[in-house]
Amino acid sequence: MRAPSRWFSLRFPLTPGRWGRGRAAFLRGLLAGLLCGLTVAGAAPAQSPFQIELRLLGRPLTAGQQATVREAARQVSGLIASPFVPVRVNIPAGDCDRRLPAVQGTVRNLIVFVVVRDLGDDVYATGMPCDLQDRTYLPIYGVVDLNSRGLTDLPRVDLLDTMLHELLHVLGVGTLWEADSRVSRNGETDGRSFIRRDGRSLVYTAPRAVAAYRALGGRGRGIPLDPDGGHWDGRAVCAEILSGSAGNFTGRVNPVSPVTLAALEDLGYRVNLLAASRYALPRGSCAAQLRDGSGPLWVPTGGFAGCAAARSAGATLPLRRGEPAYRPELDGDGDGLACEGGR
Ligand SMILES: [Zn+2]
Repeated sequence: MRAPSRWFSLRFPLTPGRWGRGRAAFLRGLLAGLLCGLTVAGAAPAQSPFQIELRLLGRPLTAGQQATVREAARQVSGLIASPFVPVRVNIPAGDCDRRLPAVQGTVRNLIVFVVVRDLGDDVYATGMPCDLQDRTYLPIYGVVDLNSRGLTDLPRVDLLDTMLHELLHVLGVGTLWEADSRVSRNGETDGRSFIRRDGRSLVYTAPRAVAAYRALGGRGRGIPLDPDGGHWDGRAVCAEILSGSAGNFTGRVNPVSPVTLAALEDLGYRVNLLAASRYALPRGSCAAQLRDGSGPLWVPTGGFAGCAAARSAGATLPLRRGEPAYRPELDGDGDGLACEGGR
């Protein structure tokens, strides 16, 4: 088994059947990276009015992993200041994902199934909402698939970071941004799209996140997105919880920026503004974000081209095996230390 070198987040292409209830559209498949950062700042209220109810399925997690998954749910719950609106449902087993059991009766919290299973070598976690409430188009329940491969070796911070990212997808960030995906239980859509094409690229245009982006000094008519349309362009935000840079992995938990918090508002949640992490948009390159001390190390997709690039980005040399920036190609003698002597 190959140890994961990088954490990805993937939204599967969804068939109408998978979404059920005539959901006509599917979300584009996508591959997106994840990874890194600071902690989610801890100003969340002790008891958020919004709770995420976890249901663990599949291969068992260790007690420590379960605690980390619950911590992620607690932190994401703490971002939301509006209560979940209870709803009566009668959803058969396998409606959203064939592994899921039936969801019946009155749902009083956002239910998130966390399914631990083998996702292969390249995909480490996925997250998506399932049924949406009528009128509000907010999720009733959702699913996070967590790759059982490599989980044993995964540091706590990376599991926490991954779960925060995927739970935000379950809430709708990056997954409910297009009209095709915004279909409620009764089969209606509000027709809203938070995304538009700007030349060859996609930009996010919903007002609150755009305002937050501009307040941080961002420019342009929208927020640059990854080609998948479900993550901020990593070049624009560098290390951020919804950054799409696949190599953006620092071994710390990515910050939840005011931009991502405002994206939750665009979806219709009220948010706990105090819960945003310390965050600044990069001035210039992501490496510059590091040098001005406002963010963690940013590792480009595929790793640093060489030791000089790693050093100029601010990486501490030598790079040690297990660190995100480590690549065997930079470790000539294979002793687990790359760029020894700074080269
Ligand atoms: Zn993602």
